[in-house]
Amino acid sequence: VARKIFLAGNWKMNMLAAQVPSYFLDFQQELDRPLAEIKGGVDLAFAVPYPLLAAVHQQDSGSFFLAAQNVHAATSGAYTGEVSIAMLKEAGAFASLVGHSERRQYYGETDESVAEKTKALLSASMLPIVCIGETKGQRESGATKDVLQAQISAVTQVLDPGDQVVFAYEPVWAIGTGLTATDDQAQEAHAFIRSLLGKALGEDFAERTRIVYGGSAKPENFAGLLTQKDIDGGLVGGASLQPKAFAAMANLALAATR
Ligand code: PEP
Repeated sequence: VARKIFLAGNWKMNMLAAQVPSYFLDFQQELDRPLAEIKGGVDLAFAVPYPLLAAVHQQDSGSFFLAAQNVHAATSGAYTGEVSIAMLKEAGAFASLVGHSERRQYYGETDESVAEKTKALLSASMLPIVCIGETKGQRESGATKDVLQAQISAVTQVLDPGDQVVFAYEPVWAIGTGLTATDDQAQEAHAFIRSLLGKALGEDFAERTRIVYGGSAKPENFAGLLTQKDIDGGLVGGASLQPKAFAAMANLALAATR
């Protein structure tokens, strides 16, 4: 099965709406092909802060997936400070990150809440981008596979084999640290994750579901990661804030299109 490459930028808590037009000018200038043609080869996504959704939606959003960085699982109610799926859809979003390690570390996101949010997004025909990955301590103590297994099984329990989900393997020790997993380390984790998906939901699901890598990915290391057979793209933090660097990664993804 040829899995279409999925490349998402995660702006985290950066950028202002006023900066969005010039970001997209620079981004498009650096792309090898017109933005409108990218989706023929690569699924491109931007995960942006809530107040920026509308501004990014105005930038020819038919060419890419507009995504939020988090969402609440309930449809509405007394949840001060939270944002519902219907609100995201109204703002033009089609996807959301779920369980980013920063949400798990700083805001108490658990495997259970990740599963709940994933299910809620799927029920609303939205695309969940589910983030998983071990910490430095967990890797060093040899617990990587156990951690991934627990994180994956919480989510696969709520999935059906027909669901469309993207998984992002993001080793926490590689996020924002400049330390990237080696191609081999990442491939090993991705192959393990795919095997877990196969056991839980069947080979068809495992073969067609994209597993993207995140953790200090940048133009200099992205081509190597994309040569690995179970790495289907990237979730990019820091480098996605630089439009030319992120466009260079989109160009590499286009060139690697299988
Ligand atoms: C991320 O936060 O999803 C991420 C991968 O960040 P960075 O690329 O900055 O490591």
